[in-house]
Amino acid sequence: MNQTFEFQNTLEFAKELDQLDPIKHMRSQFHIPKQSNGDDEIYLCGNSLGLQPQKTQEYLTFELSQWQKYGVKGHFSGDFPWMPYHEFLTEGLANLVGAKHSEVVAMNSLTTNLHLMMVSFYRPTDTRHKILIEDHAFPSDHYAVESQIKFHGHNPEDSMLLIKPREGEDTFRTEDILKVIEDEGDSIALIMLPGVQYYSGQVFDMAAITQAGHEKGCVVGFDLAHATGNIEMSLHDWDVDFACWCHYKYLNSGAGAVAGCFVHEKHHKNKDLPRFAGWWGHNKDTRFKMDNRFDPIESAEAWQLSNPPILSLAAIRASLDTVKEAGGIQALREKSLKLTGYLRYLLNEELASDVKIITPEKDNEHGCQLSLTIDTHGLDGRLVFERIEAAGVTGDWRYPNVIRVAPVPQYNTYEDCYRFVQILKESLTQ
Ligand SMILES: *Cc1c(COP(=O)(O)O)cnc(C)c1O
Repeated sequence: MNQTFEFQNTLEFAKELDQLDPIKHMRSQFHIPKQSNGDDEIYLCGNSLGLQPQKTQEYLTFELSQWQKYGVKGHFSGDFPWMPYHEFLTEGLANLVGAKHSEVVAMNSLTTNLHLMMVSFYRPTDTRHKILIEDHAFPSDHYAVESQIKFHGHNPEDSMLLIKPREGEDTFRTEDILKVIEDEGDSIALIMLPGVQYYSGQVFDMAAITQAGHEKGCVVGFDLAHATGNIEMSLHDWDVDFACWCHYKYLNSGAGAVAGCFVHEKHHKNKDLPRFAGWWGHNKDTRFKMDNRFDPIESAEAWQLSNPPILSLAAIRASLDTVKEAGGIQALREKSLKLTGYLRYLLNEELASDVKIITPEKDNEHGCQLSLTIDTHGLDGRLVFERIEAAGVTGDWRYPNVIRVAPVPQYNTYEDCYRFVQILKESLTQ
């Protein structure tokens, strides 16, 4: 079901929506980049790199001062000692993805975590060796899957099961994905799909895919790079086996921030899982006994390798505190549906014949982002993108021909959406 809002295509109305926005105070919690004329940029790129929360600098400076004051004793000193530092993020992360506390951990980077998860959960046999993934997955996911298949001595030609939307369509139909699982499930070892597709912004039906996969005996994992901090999820209840995501997109934790990982609790006690291990995954009570008998923590933390970069975790802690202040992912999603709904309404009002929105319209099939293709005047989409950038909009361009714009509920305004559509309109008529 779509929520219906009564919208109007005027600047006054956009400003009125901003006034009525229950979390409008959140924008002042962020650093908004400026244009050369001193105005705020119309920043619609939170899907790629989220903006910096005001708290980040404070939290980072605090950790630097701990190091200055305590040296190595910082591991055990103060309110946020480094030894258990990742645990200060657990509750916030669990709330974001719908997990138990034991099921989430912040560690490594996204692609590294994809590999670590596949080491444990991609266990091909002669008859069941395929990984189901999209044809145009994010390149890093494609390479990770391909290299894991080769690592196990299989041939990607036979073992990478690539799915794509129907001819002439931009997004997937859930029924088609389920049909592939139904037909080919017996040979699929692992299903690895996105929660939100990076190019089209489509939300996948993770619950239905997981259920269908399990009925066929497949392991099911998701890449949530574009989902975490964007949409609500219930990974535990959906019975998802594992998931990985990053914190620099919708979670505003800075370029290259430490990533996140979910492992369902049903796997925690399984000591037979193959694993690439490191000391930070070892039982915390005996980690420093250094006796070299690996005893994995019975939680997602068992997949940690190294003691983590505290400065990056501090930035994630700042971001999670900011999310909490906004009222959590539920409050963010509530605004997001309306904000992105307003953007879609404006695009349809002003530019229906020039701009095609490939992102699905139903509430449960999209997040913040709308992916636009320019359909008119023989204009090159890339040129249009350059024009809107020059006019103060930060979005992003993805080959072959999409402009992605993502108004995010924490710091974007209805006015941003209004101004963006006006600028886009002008750049089409130049
Ligand atoms: C952003 C993104 C990545 C980036 O991977 P890193 O390991 O963080 O560099 C990978 N996969 C998807 C689907 C992404 O959206």
